[in-house]
Amino acid sequence: MRDIVSESYLLTTEQALREHGHDETEDLVFLPEAVALPGSTAEVSALMKICYRERIPVTVRGGGTGLAGGALPIEGGLVISMKRLDRIVHIDTRNFQVTTQPGVVTETLQNTLKEKGLFYPPDPSSRGWSFIGGNVGTNAGGPKAVKYGVVKDHVLNLEVVLPNGEVIWTGSNTLKNSTGYNLTQLLVGSEGTLGIVTQIVLKLQPYPTQSLLMLVPFRSAESACAAVAAIFQSGVTPSGLEFMERNAIDWAVRYVGETPVPIREEDAAHLLIEVDGFHMDSLIADCETISRVLNEYDCGEIFFADDDATKTALWKLRRNVAHAVKRNSVYKEEDTVVPRAELPFLLQKVKETGSKYGFESVCYGHAGDGNLHVNILRGNLSDDAWNIGVTKGVREIFKYVKSVGGTISGEHGIGLVQRPYLDIVFSKTELKLMRQIKKVFDPKGIMNPGKVI
Ligand SMILES: Cc1cc2nc3c(=O)[nH]c(=O)nc-3n(C[C@H](O)[C@H](O)[C@H](O)COP(=O)(O)OP(=O)(O)OC[C@H]3O[C@@H](n4cnc5c(N)ncnc54)[C@H](O)[C@@H]3O)c2cc1C
Repeated sequence: MRDIVSESYLLTTEQALREHGHDETEDLVFLPEAVALPGSTAEVSALMKICYRERIPVTVRGGGTGLAGGALPIEGGLVISMKRLDRIVHIDTRNFQVTTQPGVVTETLQNTLKEKGLFYPPDPSSRGWSFIGGNVGTNAGGPKAVKYGVVKDHVLNLEVVLPNGEVIWTGSNTLKNSTGYNLTQLLVGSEGTLGIVTQIVLKLQPYPTQSLLMLVPFRSAESACAAVAAIFQSGVTPSGLEFMERNAIDWAVRYVGETPVPIREEDAAHLLIEVDGFHMDSLIADCETISRVLNEYDCGEIFFADDDATKTALWKLRRNVAHAVKRNSVYKEEDTVVPRAELPFLLQKVKETGSKYGFESVCYGHAGDGNLHVNILRGNLSDDAWNIGVTKGVREIFKYVKSVGGTISGEHGIGLVQRPYLDIVFSKTELKLMRQIKKVFDPKGIMNPGKVI
């Protein structure tokens, strides 16, 4: 392996192993035996040929911001980091496409494209650290998904190194493709269990030049959630529609150290609502329509952010909720998603379940997508309460989610920590099909073993 990547890019020091032994999932750490940082697809392929021959477990690592434990090397072996595959290969302005290596930081890609008036919308709150390859690995979402879709809606074609070291392209660089099985979409969200994505072709669009943002307080968290579906029924599709319950915004304000708008004692929750486009007149009309809807749901005074500094400050609060929660306590992150009109009932179910099993939760998330992040706080819970009680509670919440047509992960993936719950959402036959697919790609079971299925 040293011959392939050179001495300096095969790491075995204790410090390097520790750095690559965790992601952002709870406080879990698993050490690999070595970390390789390949600089090309050919090097990834050569590494995989050795691992395949020797049956060495391989975990691919992007930015390590995952919340489901997908990048944890739970069986040791080799971590292959995408860090050096950090080149934007080609921006095709004529066809609105970009070809990129997987190690480019999401925000760097977005900013580079923006300079050319191009827009790649999926923007996980971790975009300052996550890699575009990791976003493909988890089929990431983010606030803009509500209008523009998640990563899968933007991926056209992928270069993939298979577990045996062979290199394939999954599709074509076209907007339409009805040619054979859709390997591209199979690889998106496969969390490094089927192969290593080494190049990505994404579709782009013109960058919206205008946006308006409003922060809306509610005296009841359920009313805030109920207003969400009504906004869409009014005919407006916001480009962001985020929910934060009281603790979420309070902790974010404390973590960030400032807020452009005071949070009043009586506010139980907030919606952060953005509209974007190219014509300010139509955005103002959209905001008027949204305001009329919100007033029917007993909202407080709506705060409009019309200058860039205030917009940035409000988004900063929302994007820092997870960090703020982590500073307060170790937590389990549940990534529940339901049809959006079911959101108020999901929130109610989460709180009832928390009371039953004695855990506290902080809820926030991409309300427009029906995607509620439930952060269950470890706080002072005993080991039994944390490992057994919380697990029972989570099962109950997930069963409820399934019963209303939802599922257990909207954007973070299954990885390690959600795997025990997969039987809630898939039948034995469905799971068997997935295991068979895994076996076709990875007959020796070396790619991210112990993850997803
Ligand atoms: C503060 C915070 C906020 C977040 N907000 C959001 C959000 O709004 N929306 C959202 O969707 N997620 C969010 N996340 C979760 C996380 O950032 C995403 O899951 C992200 O897509 C992970 O990217 P990464 O590069 O860090 O991947 P990693 O954590 O390194 O890896 C994630 C998975 O992808 C696999 N993988 C990585 N690279 C490749 C590759 N090249 N080929 C094949 N498989 C690969 C890994 O093996 C692993 O299974 C947040 C996380 C944090 C900490």
